[in-house]
Amino acid sequence: MPHRIPLAEPDLTGNEARYLAECVESTFVSSVGPFVERFESMVAEASGATGAVAVSSGTCGLHAALTAVGVRAGDLVILPSLTFIASANAVAHCGATPWILDVDPLSWNLDPALVETCLATETTMHADGRVIHRESGRRVAAILPVHTLGLAAEMAPIVAAAKARGLPVIADAAAALGARQHGRPVGALGADLSVFSFNGNKTVTCGGGGAIVGDDPRLLALVRHLTTTARVGADYDHDRVGFNYRMTNLQAAVGCAQMERLERFVAAKRRIRAAYDAAFAALSDRVAPFPEPAGNAGACWFSGFVDRRADPDGVAGLRARLKAAGIDARPFWKPIHLQPPYREAPRTPQPVCEGLWWRVVTLPCATALPEADQQRVILAVRALLTDG
Ligand SMILES: *Cc1c(COP(=O)(O)O)cnc(C)c1O
Repeated sequence: MPHRIPLAEPDLTGNEARYLAECVESTFVSSVGPFVERFESMVAEASGATGAVAVSSGTCGLHAALTAVGVRAGDLVILPSLTFIASANAVAHCGATPWILDVDPLSWNLDPALVETCLATETTMHADGRVIHRESGRRVAAILPVHTLGLAAEMAPIVAAAKARGLPVIADAAAALGARQHGRPVGALGADLSVFSFNGNKTVTCGGGGAIVGDDPRLLALVRHLTTTARVGADYDHDRVGFNYRMTNLQAAVGCAQMERLERFVAAKRRIRAAYDAAFAALSDRVAPFPEPAGNAGACWFSGFVDRRADPDGVAGLRARLKAAGIDARPFWKPIHLQPPYREAPRTPQPVCEGLWWRVVTLPCATALPEADQQRVILAVRALLTDG
């Protein structure tokens, strides 16, 4: 039996061990330490934003960002159906409810036209500036586009629809560090705040971790305040209900070593994507590539293909046969509106999302994936696709 090829695994062969040893030797292992600040400036710079606040996870980052822009219990937050459950959970952690919109078939991201239509036809703007969802009577408090698979959502029209109504935009950029749209880095696409994850399965990892980036120093200061127990002064005074969402110096030490190689990691991810797409181009009647609309250079967090057959069992069988051959092929996110906690949430019809999510097959795409392993994956996929 040939060795198993994992979906993704971190590459920790840079300065990770050295920086961790520095933390241990200096005893700076907790949430104060030089690596945290260094990590924040590296993330801010790479994302094209002016500032960053490091936190303990992407989910915590989203919760803090939504809280900072004023999302409160009873509110609605617009988000796409095709996302990781954490996007919706962060909304729920605020006591708010996601308003789940379908995605654009060309990007798999929040459909900007649908955002504008829903806001225009289903909400009323009150004289006090609040945007009210007529059917539920709830306030719409923010828009949360997701940069799915590291491909930036089409931000300009989403930001325009938001700004026209005074709504903040928080981007779930969890896996999108290194992505560009119209030449601009992903933290400079108009969102008030963008949130990255540095979980172990992301392109750049801290083991676990997150960061919130933005350009408004007052908003970033509020995020920092909220994520560090809302402490005022040097003693035990706290002016609101804050969170302990700090990143530790240990996490940041790993993160700094990883950030030093961000460009190489993203280039590897893009090269792996291109090799799969080229290899499967001749099978275009059976499979379609992952999207990358013109004007984008995505971070290509995952790679794989979309099975064109209208046969969920067939797609699952294909994944199972790849697994049996030692190739870690997996499904992709199950949409939010199909998850028990969000079945009652308001939503649009979901023709795109429902026709798409179960057809997706993700394939091994570690940044250090050996070329020979990728060839083995390609040959196995080709053999399965051409034999029935
Ligand atoms: C990974 C991910 C998250 C969650 O990040 P954690 O660091 O695991 O909390 C949120 N949203 C999306 C789209 C993700 O891919």
